[in-house]
Amino acid sequence: MEAPARQIKAKNIESWLPAIHKPLIISGPCSAESREQVLDTAARLHTTGLISAFRGGVWKPRTRPGAFEGHGERALEWLKEVNDLYGFPITVEVATPRHVEACMKAGVHILWIGARTSVNPFSVQELAESLKGVDIPVMVKNPLNPDLGLWIGVIERFYMNGITKLAAIHRGFNTYEKSRYRNEPLWNIPIDLKSNFPDLPIICDPSHIAGERSLLQEIAQQALLLDMSGLMIEAHFNPEKAFTDAAQQITPEELALLINKLKIPTAADENPCKELEILRKRIDEFDHQLINTLSKRTQIVKEIALLKSDCKMTILQVKRWNQIIETRMQEGVEKGLSEKFIRDLLDLIHKESIELQSKIIK
Ligand code: PEP
Ligand code: MN
Repeated sequence: MEAPARQIKAKNIESWLPAIHKPLIISGPCSAESREQVLDTAARLHTTGLISAFRGGVWKPRTRPGAFEGHGERALEWLKEVNDLYGFPITVEVATPRHVEACMKAGVHILWIGARTSVNPFSVQELAESLKGVDIPVMVKNPLNPDLGLWIGVIERFYMNGITKLAAIHRGFNTYEKSRYRNEPLWNIPIDLKSNFPDLPIICDPSHIAGERSLLQEIAQQALLLDMSGLMIEAHFNPEKAFTDAAQQITPEELALLINKLKIPTAADENPCKELEILRKRIDEFDHQLINTLSKRTQIVKEIALLKSDCKMTILQVKRWNQIIETRMQEGVEKGLSEKFIRDLLDLIHKESIELQSKIIK
C-alpha cells in the first residue's frame, strides 16, 4: 500500500547555502584526483566570483570494477584546504555510514546522496539513521530510474531522522533507449516533485543529464526557466584528462562563460504582469470548457458501453479506433497542434474509455 504523502518543511536554502551570485552555483571536479587538481580547480573557480560551494567526489561509485574509485579520506584533506583558502562550503557524496563519519570528522559542510544510493531504501535508511541528531544539510539526487515515489522516499527518510536542511538534485534518469542525453531529464518528474513539496529546493545537475559539455548550456537554461533553486556543474582544471566523466566536464573559465550567458528569469511573485493575468483568465475559461466537453463525452461513452453490452459487441473495435486517430490527427495538425500531442491525448482518452466500458459491461 502506498504511504500517505508527508509534509516536508525544508529550511530555506539561503539559510544553509547562501548564493554569492544568482543563480546559486555549486561546482568542482567530478572526482578529487590529486591535491594539485583540487587546489588549481578551486583557485580558478574562486577567481570567477560566481561559485557558492565546492564539490568533489571522494568515493566514486563506478559501474565496472577496476576503474578509478576515488582517493577516499586522503582527498577530504585537499577539500578542507580549499575551504581554508577560499571559504567555499564543501560538499561530498556519501554512500555508507563510514563515509558519513569520515566527512563529519573532516568538517565537510554539505552531504549529497548519489543516484546509485537513492535507489536502495536499505542504504538510505542506514545513512539517515547515522545522521540522527546531526545538523548537516543533505542533498538528495534522484534515483537512477524514473520513480518519483522512490525519490520522495529518500527525502522523507532523512526528514524523519531530523534533517531539515534538505534539497533535491535533479540529475536525469537512465533509459534503455538511445537518447541525446546521458540521462533523460524527464522534466515532468522534478516539476511533480516541486508541486508536491513547494518548499523543497531543487538543484539541477546539467553535467550528469548531459554527459557531454555541448549540452550543458541549454539544460542549465531550462532548469532556470523551471524555477530551480540552483545548478551543480562539474568543472575540472584539465577536463580532457579527467579520471571520471571527462566528456561532460568544463574548465572554470568555460563555466564562467556559461553562467554569464544564462538568462535569469524572475520569480512570479517578484514580477506582477498584467498581460499575463488576462491571458491566464482566458486559459481558465478554455480549461473549463475542456472539462465540460470531456464530461459530456464520457456520458456518451457510458451509453455506448450499455449498447455494446446489449448487442454483445466487443469493446475494442479497431477499425473505428484507427479512423478516430487518422481524422483527429489530421484535424489537429491543420489547427496547429503537434502530431505527438494529439496522439498522446487520444491514447489517454481511449484508455479511459476502454476502462470505463470494461467496468460497466462486467
Ligand atoms: C557525481 O555527482 O559525480 C555522481 C556520481 O553523480 P550521480 O550520482 O548523479 O551519478
Ligand atoms: Mn561525475
